[in-house]
Amino acid sequence: MSKSVTIFWFRRDLRLEDNAGLSHALAAGSPVLPIYIFDPLLLAKETPRRVDYVHRALSALDTALRGRGSSLHIFHGEPSSVFRKLAAQYEVRAIFCNREYEPRLEQRDQAVAALGFPFNAYRDHVIFDDIQKSDGTPYTVFTPYAARWQALLREADCLAYPTESENFHQTVLRQWITPEELGFYKTDICCEVSEPDPEMLRNYAGRRDFPALEGTSRLGVALRFGTISIRRCVALALIHSEAWLNELIWREFFMQIQRAFPSDRAFKLRYDFIPWRNDEAEFAAWCCGETGYPLVDAGMRELRETGYMHNRVRMVAASFLCKHLLIDWRWGEAHFARNLNDYDLAANNGNWQWASGSGCDAAPYFRIFNPETQAQKFDKDFTYIKQWVPEWGTAVYPAPIVAHRFARERALETYRKALEN
Ligand code: FAD
Repeated sequence: MSKSVTIFWFRRDLRLEDNAGLSHALAAGSPVLPIYIFDPLLLAKETPRRVDYVHRALSALDTALRGRGSSLHIFHGEPSSVFRKLAAQYEVRAIFCNREYEPRLEQRDQAVAALGFPFNAYRDHVIFDDIQKSDGTPYTVFTPYAARWQALLREADCLAYPTESENFHQTVLRQWITPEELGFYKTDICCEVSEPDPEMLRNYAGRRDFPALEGTSRLGVALRFGTISIRRCVALALIHSEAWLNELIWREFFMQIQRAFPSDRAFKLRYDFIPWRNDEAEFAAWCCGETGYPLVDAGMRELRETGYMHNRVRMVAASFLCKHLLIDWRWGEAHFARNLNDYDLAANNGNWQWASGSGCDAAPYFRIFNPETQAQKFDKDFTYIKQWVPEWGTAVYPAPIVAHRFARERALETYRKALEN
């Protein structure tokens, strides 16, 4: 007689503490068999740093599970076939997990649910995933969405989910896969997560825009893979920083936009008629941080070398690509997707469309960042620029790829013609 188990499937929720789906699984009855699946379809779009981050987070989970007499089972394969194999080994009473929101992941979950095991998915990655206007349509403007989100939060019960139960399948079998076995190499990414420092949060509003300061949480990757709980972050934001809370709401706003409008077309369809120049040599210069605009170049080099880029610099670099170089925002979006550690489909797409002007934001297309004045304002001692572009100011550093004034006029004219036709 095979052993009866409840499966808990870890995905973007790589922690034991305050984990909604895991909490429900532990309370469901049969011992919980914790698993993780490296899905080849998803791996095809992953970066070595992100795979390494996941692997380190899985090691930490496994160590914690061993402390409770259990262990993490890791598989490499298409999820439905992994579950079929598991069903040959165990009596699978149910599958528990936390909800995912990308269209391809929702389809994958539907395929697994169709296998016939009771499939229970919980909301864990965000505080709310079902906010709609009173007429039942999705919010497309941030300010009223954020007001509704805050009102609902005041009514909601946002307590942490208990996961202290010992109801794990007691086995220390080693079912392990390394990044190398998946075709990736080891990196120097760190996966230790610490809660945001209250002092940093209190100073966030005043310091968040300066890339040389440690003024932001750097928790993007932890929120992306769920090594920290969003409920814990919101609880800290409510105590220490309204401005930081606002950013966490942006994260959920873009998630619900992407769910309601899952498309790779511009949110404002007229923007699909902009005749992008799409010059490949200029795109390559932007990717390598060789545009001759030091703030843009510093950001692009920081991205290449670390997988991170400061938010202010992301905004300037993105605006530069879409406006100064007139390169399709989807090229920039894809480059960020290939490089950011905290890459998230909804946040990346939403922010790129914000930068190009085609998104659900009311800001007019003629908002064009001047990369020079942005540098003077937000990196006035050039500390950040010198860190990433050491040759800046010497003869080796390239001249600007395009003159700002000319590029600005060209962008305005191109956008105006395309949008007014
Ligand atoms: P903090 O300033 O400490 O903010 C805390 C958290 O709030 C972030 O970790 C993130 O989860 C969320 N957040 C903050 N700003 C935003 C925002 N504008 N939109 C959505 N969520 C936000 N963020 C991603 O998580 N993934 C992406 O792929 C991504 N791509 C971006 C592309 C462009 C062109 C731009 C302009 C921004 C992008 N952002 C993205 C948003 C933002 O730049 C990062 O979330 C932030 O820089 C991460 O650093 P942090 O953790 O120190 O953020």
